[in-house]
Amino acid sequence: MKFKTIIALFLFIGCANNSYSQLTNEEKTLSEIRNEGYNNSEATKMLSQLTDIYGQRLTGTREYYKAASWISTEMKKIGLENVHFENYCSDCRGWNVKTFNIEMVAPNYMNISAYPLAMSKSSDGIVSGEVIHIEDFDDMISVQKDFTGKLRGKIILLGEKPKRKSLLDTIESRYSDTQLKQMEQKVTAIVKVTPLPELFEKWKIDDKADENFLKFLETEGALAILKTRPMYLGILHPDGTYYFREGDLKPLPYFTIMPEHFGRLYRLIKRNETPTIRLNLETEFYSEPENNVNIIGEISGNDAQLKSESILLGAHFDSWHSGTGATDNGANCIVLMEALRILKQIDYQPKRTIKIGLWGGEEQAFLGSAAYAKKHFGALNKKPNLASKKISAYLNLDNGAGLIRGVYLQNNELARPIFKKIFSPISNITSGAITIENTISTDHETFDYYNIPSFQFIQDELAYNSATHHTNLDFLEYVHENDIMKNAVILAWTIYSLDNMKGKIPRKLN
Ligand SMILES: [Zn+2]
Repeated sequence: MKFKTIIALFLFIGCANNSYSQLTNEEKTLSEIRNEGYNNSEATKMLSQLTDIYGQRLTGTREYYKAASWISTEMKKIGLENVHFENYCSDCRGWNVKTFNIEMVAPNYMNISAYPLAMSKSSDGIVSGEVIHIEDFDDMISVQKDFTGKLRGKIILLGEKPKRKSLLDTIESRYSDTQLKQMEQKVTAIVKVTPLPELFEKWKIDDKADENFLKFLETEGALAILKTRPMYLGILHPDGTYYFREGDLKPLPYFTIMPEHFGRLYRLIKRNETPTIRLNLETEFYSEPENNVNIIGEISGNDAQLKSESILLGAHFDSWHSGTGATDNGANCIVLMEALRILKQIDYQPKRTIKIGLWGGEEQAFLGSAAYAKKHFGALNKKPNLASKKISAYLNLDNGAGLIRGVYLQNNELARPIFKKIFSPISNITSGAITIENTISTDHETFDYYNIPSFQFIQDELAYNSATHHTNLDFLEYVHENDIMKNAVILAWTIYSLDNMKGKIPRKLN
């Protein structure tokens, strides 16, 4: 090597070292987070373990508890402290499908693509009956007038003719820049947030809107119900019933069937070619309230002044039963786990305590997060206690497995500059759109009600509302590995940034 070259090399290394050492703590941490999150990601491996090995995680079930036990062990492996379960429901019952089959046997044979709704009871062995159509049960007086004495041994086709869908309908989409801009430009939140006690009362009524109808069918001797809920063609969408508590009604065998099969049965009836269905359903009910646990863990804070404050992260861990809950909400639970793994791996010592709660029973009306909030922050109808004021922020993930594109401010304008600062250095990962808008129907509503600054991220739709949400397609196939890796990096960075803020996020003035 020539002498000049050696000098040049020496200068180069000197400069390189020098410029690295001039990095701010923030820049250094962000590059470490990216490196760990992209080059050593554990996200997909963990998600496959959760969804392929443990599978569906319906509230109340043994499957839920087994998966919860596994993830609590993972929390400990990652290095989280104070990992424990907190029970959230003393009377949520377990339910399981053991076997089922459903087929049309006249006017000719067709195996029907179907899935039983949660909490359906077993059929009386293999049963068969003619199909009769009932459009709706909004007016029970008319239903009783029209059908009393006509339903014995019959199978009910329930609902309107499904709307036509096309194979050209968009299945998977991401937010366009224009859409995100429009969200950012909103000056006021339009989506109405219902206070939690009122919301829970409303859901109690809505979820049991079919109770009188189901009782009527039972008394009249009907055998089963078939309905459909078209999202995209061919998809089964069997989520509730919501009779999940011990002592609740056990609905007669109740199936969702493929829209095309519903359509054919419907047309046959209208043409007076009454179809006959043969079916079998075996389910089991059990009472194991010990299965109903939230999974809690933390990285303890290190700053003498700030460690009593926490940043709380949450995602619901339960799922419906016909898929493995990969997009709702397995991927997001794993993103939170991966974000904390990254922070532990780069040896980040937080000032505040970073807590994680994986909630059960979200699909049954925020049961898990509401129980946690009541236990730690006081009763719903009282003023939030002092402990609630120690939570700097609550971050929730529950909008499918798509890339994080920004955040809903949940009508907290005062948080805008904070998220602007957080998103600025990661503009090549996320658009970082910030909208004043409220979003509803996820666990952040629980903490928002307690006036804790609570946020749900804007995530790309992908196939969430068209195909995977609560359906038999909710599998790992619909999770993009790059999206969840990036989401974990975004989360780790957001936690780090919030932790390094001087104060807490300002609370809404209400
Ligand atoms: Zn969900």
